[in-house]
Amino acid sequence: MFMDKLRRFMYGRYGSDRLNFALLIFGLVLSFLASIFGFPPLNFLSYVLYLYAIFRMLSKNIPARRKEYHAFLKVWTPVQKWFRIKKTAFLERKQYKYFRCPNCHQYLRAPRGRGKILVTCQRCRKEFNQKT
Ligand SMILES: [Zn+2]
Repeated sequence: MFMDKLRRFMYGRYGSDRLNFALLIFGLVLSFLASIFGFPPLNFLSYVLYLYAIFRMLSKNIPARRKEYHAFLKVWTPVQKWFRIKKTAFLERKQYKYFRCPNCHQYLRAPRGRGKILVTCQRCRKEFNQKT
């Protein structure tokens, strides 16, 4: 009954995506910082973010919301990739040395303890020496 009404209400509306989730998380972080530092404008900003997330969720202008989401992904995807590589490099720090190709900046890894080795980048085929 309630779910039917909710489904009918949400029909033709944008709903949620990762940008909404990011807005809510960022809002929570801001209100947490506001309570730590006793700085109310941050709290106000967090409410603005929550309202924007709700507005996006209920919006019927789906193309505009998609455009915002793609703009968000353009910024967020490289950040997420960087964090993922740093996490993997940390977890595998005893087995592998992580480094970047000097030519194309691709992340590469090599087993540790092999001394100085000749590395061939898998993306651009550039060869360079790397200490492991
Ligand atoms: Zn390369």
